[in-house]
Amino acid sequence: MSDKSLPTHAKVVIVGGGVVGCSILFHLAKFGWKDVVLLERDELTSGSSWHAAGQIHTISSDPNISRLQSYTIDLYKEIEELSGHSVGLHITGGFYLASTPEWYDYLKRELSKARYMGLDQEFISPAEVAERHPLIDPKHYLAALWDDQDGDLDPSGATYAFAKAARVHGAQYFTHTPVVETNQRADGTWDVTTPSGTIHAEMIVNCGGLWAREVGAMAGLRVPVQPMEHHYLITEEIPEVAARETRLPAGIDYEANIYFRQERTGMLLGTYEPVSTPWKVDGTPMDFGHELLNPDLDRIADRLEKSFERIPAIGEAGIKNIINGPFTFGPDGNPMIGPVPGIRNYWCAVGVMAGFCQGGGVGLTMAEWMIDGEPSIDVWAMDVARFGDWASPDWGTIKSAENYERRFVMTFPNETLPKGRKQKTTALYDRLIAKGARMGQGFGLEHALWFGDGPDDAHEEPTFERNRSHDYVASEVAAVRNGVGGIEIANFAKHEFKGAGARAYLDKMLAGNIPRAGRIILTPMLTPKGKLYGDLTVACLGADHFMLFGSGAMQEAHRRWFERHLPDDVQYRNVSDDWHGIAISGPKSRELLQRITRDDVSNTAFKFRDIRETYVGDVPVILSRISFSGELGYEIYCKPQYLIRLSEAVEDAGADLGYRWYGARALLSMRLEKSWGVWTMDYRPDFTPAESGLDIFIDWDTDFIGKDAALAERKTGPLRKLVCMVIDCDGIDVSGDEAVIKNGAAIGYISSGGYAHHVQQSVAMGYVPSIEAVAGNKVQVEILGAFYDAVIQGPPLYDANGANMRS
Ligand SMILES: Cc1cc2nc3c(=O)[nH]c(=O)nc-3n(C[C@H](O)[C@H](O)[C@H](O)COP(=O)(O)OP(=O)(O)OC[C@H]3O[C@@H](n4cnc5c(N)ncnc54)[C@H](O)[C@@H]3O)c2cc1C
Repeated sequence: MSDKSLPTHAKVVIVGGGVVGCSILFHLAKFGWKDVVLLERDELTSGSSWHAAGQIHTISSDPNISRLQSYTIDLYKEIEELSGHSVGLHITGGFYLASTPEWYDYLKRELSKARYMGLDQEFISPAEVAERHPLIDPKHYLAALWDDQDGDLDPSGATYAFAKAARVHGAQYFTHTPVVETNQRADGTWDVTTPSGTIHAEMIVNCGGLWAREVGAMAGLRVPVQPMEHHYLITEEIPEVAARETRLPAGIDYEANIYFRQERTGMLLGTYEPVSTPWKVDGTPMDFGHELLNPDLDRIADRLEKSFERIPAIGEAGIKNIINGPFTFGPDGNPMIGPVPGIRNYWCAVGVMAGFCQGGGVGLTMAEWMIDGEPSIDVWAMDVARFGDWASPDWGTIKSAENYERRFVMTFPNETLPKGRKQKTTALYDRLIAKGARMGQGFGLEHALWFGDGPDDAHEEPTFERNRSHDYVASEVAAVRNGVGGIEIANFAKHEFKGAGARAYLDKMLAGNIPRAGRIILTPMLTPKGKLYGDLTVACLGADHFMLFGSGAMQEAHRRWFERHLPDDVQYRNVSDDWHGIAISGPKSRELLQRITRDDVSNTAFKFRDIRETYVGDVPVILSRISFSGELGYEIYCKPQYLIRLSEAVEDAGADLGYRWYGARALLSMRLEKSWGVWTMDYRPDFTPAESGLDIFIDWDTDFIGKDAALAERKTGPLRKLVCMVIDCDGIDVSGDEAVIKNGAAIGYISSGGYAHHVQQSVAMGYVPSIEAVAGNKVQVEILGAFYDAVIQGPPLYDANGANMRS
């Protein structure tokens, strides 16, 4: 505890002294914010942090989280030296064991990622596994991915080291100081009340861990996280371990669903139960602290049996200790961090389920975000804004439990997870299902991925290779390219701006030239550092009235960004749920549209990139002439209550034109043929407009956020560029994050790709050094461990000059 008394004012108050709160405190102070205070209800590490297994590794499904995990591990030496507090670090190296061909494939994908990220990983044979870890029976394995950086630490020591190192940098922490109220003042600052006094804080950070829900509720915030019970056990002494001079490596066996490491002269082994036990669904008691939960070995008996086969010495040793402790999961297993949309100056870092792998990276990111206004790398996979109010407490519990159970279960690129479905649907849901739609979920909303021949046919096997949807998607693409098809567009985000200052505001926010009434433009939106923060379609519906269309997933993040800069003379609303609709595309789409509107929609009367409010299919709509398929096409937005009427009109009018519904996979395939990127994959805050090619939409004559940085890059030229590649492969396509190889070295990575059905080629988008971004340049792409030849393309593979779109 600090010997000082509680201050009355602080720039930042962090609530919660687990590893996450202490890491944020450390990073803020290290980067120069000394007026920061952490308040802990009890002693530090009074939540899940003290009883963690302490295993640390770099592997994660998201490459940027992997980078941050690598950063976290490297940081432990620094905080130990600075604080003088031991973190009990053992960097033993560790392996990820593949016992089935599927897990081997999975690990080949991981290695490919590691190659371009510069992480030091390699495959070793089962014999080498046994050499490095003689307790493991190698006959169960095909190979193992080895990572030098893995190991373990003392969780309590690491948390204290963060806190004490923060104090060395000038920050303060107070233990036995529970926060009982957080009240916002009219100016957006906060009064943080404790029994020892109230601190007036400019910003507040919820690091409540097991109590994240309770701390959030004090500010009216519901975070969809859920503590889950979790078991690990520690064996009695194992003679072979006791006799060793060096420490055994750590490991994960995915198929057996176990993680393990050396603990003193025995072993520690943990598993994620196949049927999870959410803990305290209605809320974490305030008086819970350093207790553990009753262990229930029956829940993990199957897993233990398997682990005894694979590491027989564990089965032979007695069990010294069984730990059952709760820790908090988020709905997709990743942390939820950053400024909370809709609540000024309120930040959170909750749902951090691997706090000792990720805590350092979370602290770094939060400090950059708070001090610099933006993190240095894209942290979308951890951004609290990837969930909206649809992520209800019950949904959070259901999905967090699903993620807990799937922690070591493979999720294939084409897989859609089953729990928490139908959280949001449109009026067309049942009708599309009846037509054979296979649904996916994005930002809580169901949308069609592809259509089978009726409901019983809408299934596919999870796989890394092409799946049975392939031929169905091909026929959807053919319908659009040759006739007319329609796709629901409820899942596009829509943002509405009104007011005298709207045009000037958008001019500042967006890099493109804001259109005149009745017209549409495409534009990037940049951060002050010149990174992409959106690729948006901007429409002017009338004087002082604008509609922006963008990524559905980003809608809350964009709302947060728009509101942060909003002046008094602009009214803004995220109206994504107020506008559903249908996009029709294909050479016959005009003919279809003309049959259901009285407007003249000929090419001269309704031009490419025109927009108007009118009636289509007898319902009021916003009608625009634009299409992500690369064909002549129209987006027809209507209020949700008109969607069935509109869809019937479209279907009836299109019947003799061969109208066909299509799904997201066909759309993604068609946009590849146009070399168009997609937000969250090809376009992200990791990249700049010049790198992504979105600089062609910049109006350099206007002043906009990020212009100075974009201009500076324009002078020097980008270091890397987004390119389209055609890959010489059969039966398999990229699914993202594969390495691009030249002369045996990783020079870049794949941001998205798949099969381009109309041109019948396997296509990928990816970033390579500018010097390599030359049409005709030959590279290789690593897919599941095999190196396929690829050629960088010049103009788009389909309709290179856009004649079809403009026809
Ligand atoms: C059995 C088990 C094994 C694990 N193994 C590993 C592992 O091997 N590797 C790994 O990386 N992770 C592991 N974890 C997960 C890890 O423990 C968590 O990710 C981590 O502890 C989360 O830290 P936190 O700071 O977010 O939350 P917590 O540790 O829960 O900390 C929250 C803190 O906030 C305080 N607080 C709450 N409300 C208030 C209030 N109103 N006012 C003031 N203070 C308040 C609490 O007292 C507590 O100290 C394991 C967890 C368990 C349970």
